[in-house]
Amino acid sequence: MTSPKERISEIKRTLPEGVRLVAVSKFHPASMIQEAYDGGQRIFGESHVQELVQKYEVLPKDIEWHFIGHLQTNKVKYIAPFVSLIHAVDSERLLKEIDKQAKRCGRVIPVLMQVHVAQEETKFGFLPDELLAFMQSGVWQQYENVSIEGLMCMATNTDNETQIASEFEQAKELFETIKLSTVNYQLLAWNTRSWGMSDDYPIAVLHGSNMVRIGSLIFGERVYG
Ligand SMILES: *Cc1c(COP(=O)(O)O)cnc(C)c1O
Repeated sequence: MTSPKERISEIKRTLPEGVRLVAVSKFHPASMIQEAYDGGQRIFGESHVQELVQKYEVLPKDIEWHFIGHLQTNKVKYIAPFVSLIHAVDSERLLKEIDKQAKRCGRVIPVLMQVHVAQEETKFGFLPDELLAFMQSGVWQQYENVSIEGLMCMATNTDNETQIASEFEQAKELFETIKLSTVNYQLLAWNTRSWGMSDDYPIAVLHGSNMVRIGSLIFGERVYG
């Protein structure tokens, strides 16, 4: 059996330069995160607000906490003081609330916009055209306490690698289109493409990802509930 620390080093060895690794630690105890931290890992991803807050309180303060799941607007306030990146902004309403809470904390919160490219109805996110129109409208400029830094997506949960690749490719093209068509705005930090999980990250890095979110491959199967 290898340890989380060893698996993180193995994964990092295979990642191209410039691809950041988010170690997805949801449902795993703080002790496992501490072990990975001691091995040098600093970016951890969580998808439940209460769990994230509890872990934040007991773990080292230089951890970069990423919120990767669906975020309810009424819970933004709990993570606003310390979260480093919110991956999955799926509505203007959520963006507005993050801005409001960031302002209260006197900070600017980096976020990614979630685009729905999967052929599954259960996944959250803007449709590609919808997101393009939103970004081109510039209405997000009024939210001065958020920094929109890129895109996040999830591919369909399938063994069909061609399909997964084409979904990531769609996100990559949208990323470029948004970049090129918003040059008149202050989209200064548009540089992050968050896609790829345990099962599909090798495909993701071949198709534009520069931030992978890996959980079970590092920490083992999650125990739910
Ligand atoms: C849980 C989760 C992951 C990690 O999934 P694994 O398959 O365990 O690597 C990545 N992204 C999001 C949004 C998640 O909720």
